[in-house]
Amino acid sequence: MNTIILLGAPGAGKGTTAEGIKAKTRYVHISTGDMLREAVRNGTPLGREAKTYMERGELVPDDLILKLVEARLQEGGRDESYMFDGFPRTIEQAKLLAQLLAKFHAKVDYVFFLDAARDVLIDRLTGRRICRECGTNYHVRNIPPKREGVCDACGGELYQRPDDTEETIVNRLNVFRKETEGLITFYDEEGVLVRVDSAQHRDKITAEILEMLEELAGP
Ligand code: ADP
Ligand code: ZN
Repeated sequence: MNTIILLGAPGAGKGTTAEGIKAKTRYVHISTGDMLREAVRNGTPLGREAKTYMERGELVPDDLILKLVEARLQEGGRDESYMFDGFPRTIEQAKLLAQLLAKFHAKVDYVFFLDAARDVLIDRLTGRRICRECGTNYHVRNIPPKREGVCDACGGELYQRPDDTEETIVNRLNVFRKETEGLITFYDEEGVLVRVDSAQHRDKITAEILEMLEELAGP
């Protein structure tokens, strides 16, 4: 069981990078943001509790997140390898993850920090559009669909995430700085941090990460 983490501010390209890695490996993608959005859509008790935090761009409490992650790891078990995206987001979550992985006799192998400047992040988030049907990401200027508001891949309707508004974006970036940025030092001290320039083309980013993953045994 190998475990890697994609770490980065909102808009750094964690989701896009995860798609690239998934296409080339057998890593199971665990995006706590996607899992939470699904819980909200399905109106589960957890989803109802998470919704208010997410709308404000604040962090959902650690215990709720850990429940989600633990259930997912139990499902896949030791034979899978995992790629976390958007988790952990606090030092506390990182410590809880280490305890959880220890139960599977595993540890975090690499943390890829997608580094990007603040103005790049804001531009990516305000321009982001997502297909309602297949989840493909677009950007109104950088990656526009052929027809405005329509997915090239499946013809589905494109929408803007409710937390991709200017006000919530500023709050999410502040939360990153305050709660999550400390993880860079935390994992650097553990010797597993790899810095990746997220201004590069997505294929270049994926290639850099894949090269490092080749050294790990497994999928
Ligand atoms: P982004 O990285 O672009 O902000 P995510 O999809 O990762 O997007 O997260 C969206 C929201 O979901 C966050 O603002 C937060 O409210 C919640 N969330 C996701 N992952 C976590 C986590 N590990 N801990 C706490 N809250 C989380
Ligand atoms: Zn689509």
